[in-house]
Amino acid sequence: MINIKNITILGSTGSIGTSALEVIRNKSSEFNVVAMSAHYNHKLLIEQIEEFKPEYVSIGTKVGYEEIITKYPDLEVYLGNEGLKKLGGLDKADIVLTAVSGAVGIEATIESIKKEKRIALANKETMVAAGDLINNMLKEYKAEIIPVDSEHSAIYQSLLGGKKNEVNKIIITASGGTFRGKTLKELNNVKVEDALKHPNWSMGKKITVDSSTLCNKGLEVIEAHQLFNVSYDNIEVLVHPQSIIHSMVEFNDMSIIAQLGVPDMKVPIQYAFTYPNRISNNVLKSLDFKTISNLTFDQVDNDVFKGVEYAYFAGRVGQSMPAVYNAANEIAVDEFINGNIKFLDIYRVIKDTMDKHIVHSVDSLEKVIKADTWARKEALRIIKTF
Ligand code: NDP
Ligand code: MG
Repeated sequence: MINIKNITILGSTGSIGTSALEVIRNKSSEFNVVAMSAHYNHKLLIEQIEEFKPEYVSIGTKVGYEEIITKYPDLEVYLGNEGLKKLGGLDKADIVLTAVSGAVGIEATIESIKKEKRIALANKETMVAAGDLINNMLKEYKAEIIPVDSEHSAIYQSLLGGKKNEVNKIIITASGGTFRGKTLKELNNVKVEDALKHPNWSMGKKITVDSSTLCNKGLEVIEAHQLFNVSYDNIEVLVHPQSIIHSMVEFNDMSIIAQLGVPDMKVPIQYAFTYPNRISNNVLKSLDFKTISNLTFDQVDNDVFKGVEYAYFAGRVGQSMPAVYNAANEIAVDEFINGNIKFLDIYRVIKDTMDKHIVHSVDSLEKVIKADTWARKEALRIIKTF
């Protein structure tokens, strides 16, 4: 008999969350949704409850909470950050998919680690802000993290091609975002709508803006360092606009192992659910090489797109600096989406916030929160001076 896996989805209403539900819908003999969470979108969450019949849900707003608890008196319903944490630590779950956006995922992930779950990690901000703490916890608890971020899933799979001490370098591919090839002058007055278009991937708003600034790639460099314990000198970013090669690992015999496929997050999501096995699924598409005329590669234009360079800086400084890079970026992106700052100001906010920061260790949740809270306040203060 097949052992059905119980899955908790934190952020079921988002881009990753809905892709995960598509994977589960098409493989209902393998997966069952035990819990799901949303923030604002309780209407969609209710549709998902109807279809997937979870036992636990969490919602970010009071109005959503009231509506759900009235409609489903037998369901265990939780509210806000506490609810998210509760869902992260459910005994009944085998796998927790962390697909919320931003550093809000940290505490729930910590709960999942304490309960020794498999964590299918999409939420890269968690590993960036709290990587030191999480890695320490992983030494103590038998939890495992399988990355969902497509680049890190590709690296994870490629690393299986050799031994840890045989790795020369990791090559993270980047689409280059929607503004690839643009000059600083051209970026000066770009609109929010323009930054929200991505050439290859359909994603949530925050990560789409991050892809335009290349801060997404910056976050991924730090995420890779934390997940795979590879030094920053041995992590390279390569612009590859077609997003067919999802990332690669070069071994010491100069052999390179890459993972390729159609750019579809359902592939790494399902892999994180089934690893070390692979299972078929009729929603996943085959890559038709005959339709690809060329695969191209380029370096990052660091003079224009500062997101990667600033992340290397934050990563190399280490301790609380990556959390500060992440939090300043979250604030800047929010303010940009709300029309309060210009696109290029995002870099100014990150740099000025990091310049003001006095680094400290982040070996406890309190210290991670301290760095995160400080950076958010400082970033907002800096924006007021613009
Ligand atoms: P979305 O914005 O599409 O979805 C975010 C989800 O998190 C929604 O369910 C949202 O709820 C919920 N959420 C947002 N804020 C909060 C909060 N404060 N508390 C609780 N829940 C919250 O994002 P994506 O799905 O695109 O991305 C999710 C994560 O995965 C991010 O960390 C991103 O970097 C990472 N990722 C995404 C990829 C992608 O292809 N989309 C690729 C690789 C990584 P609601 O909708 O109800 O407001
Ligand atoms: Mg990615």
